[in-house]
Amino acid sequence: MDETDVAVVGGGVAGLTAALFTARAGLDTVVLDGGGSILRRNAHLENYPGYPAGINPRTYLAMLDDQVRRTGVQRREARVHAVDPSDDGFVVACESDDPDQLRATRVVAASWADTEYLGDLPAVEDRDSKSFVLADDDGRTKVDGLYAAGRLADRYHQAIVAAGDGARTGITVVHDADSEFYHDWVVPEGYFTNRGREVPMGCEEVDSEERAQRERASLDALAPYLSEARGDGPVSHPSLADED
Ligand SMILES: Cc1cc2nc3c(=O)[nH]c(=O)nc-3n(C[C@H](O)[C@H](O)[C@H](O)COP(=O)(O)OP(=O)(O)OC[C@H]3O[C@@H](n4cnc5c(N)ncnc54)[C@H](O)[C@@H]3O)c2cc1C
Repeated sequence: MDETDVAVVGGGVAGLTAALFTARAGLDTVVLDGGGSILRRNAHLENYPGYPAGINPRTYLAMLDDQVRRTGVQRREARVHAVDPSDDGFVVACESDDPDQLRATRVVAASWADTEYLGDLPAVEDRDSKSFVLADDDGRTKVDGLYAAGRLADRYHQAIVAAGDGARTGITVVHDADSEFYHDWVVPEGYFTNRGREVPMGCEEVDSEERAQRERASLDALAPYLSEARGDGPVSHPSLADED
């Protein structure tokens, strides 16, 4: 059976952002997604900070997906149907994938409204005909090694909130996996070392040549996404049989 440090169930806004942080911290991270983010149903994303006139939500999701892949996250198109605690973590079982089982030390549940795969684990709560996974502010649930993020954890229903919650949960996983203080900052050369300090864990100092190279690479990476319109996505609620 394949093994990973972190399995993220749900490759939407919260799950991909959590994976970004765990992978950048060096944890082997697999994202399993069974259908794509609900955000694809948005018409134009105007309240996500950093885009002066908003952005096509599908363009945003494609860029997020690209960023996560470049960070080394393994993406699997697979719907998870069971997450079972085992001696040293969890066994994650998928409906379609090869192989169809994965052993994970930690699991982040970020599957919008789907809790079925968690069975009767004590973290699940049904309320007002909706399902949630109860998690504290940092994403930890009552089940050791199981975390939750985004809409599933009963956060506000905006993409930036889901992204922030995913980030916070990802960093919690990093702290739990290795208890040292962790930032994930890229800073100019000398920022710490010129003051006689060690570069803290999870930080990186880069010189000006490296900064220029990274900026050029970032412009090259952005260009294909921003050069032309992506066009319409879904136009109605899924109950009206609209599919993209
Ligand atoms: C029509 C519409 C318009 C919206 N407009 C805006 C807006 O303008 N601004 C804004 O900020 N927010 C908007 N939102 C809300 C935004 O989409 C959500 O807040 C955000 O997507 C929540 O992120 P999430 O990661 O919790 O869920 P999602 O992004 O939906 O990610 C959940 C992922 O889990 C996957 N999944 C589910 N079950 C399983 C399983 N068993 N196994 C594997 N994968 C699974 C799903 O396929 C999905 O990819 C809108 C939502 C809708 C529906």
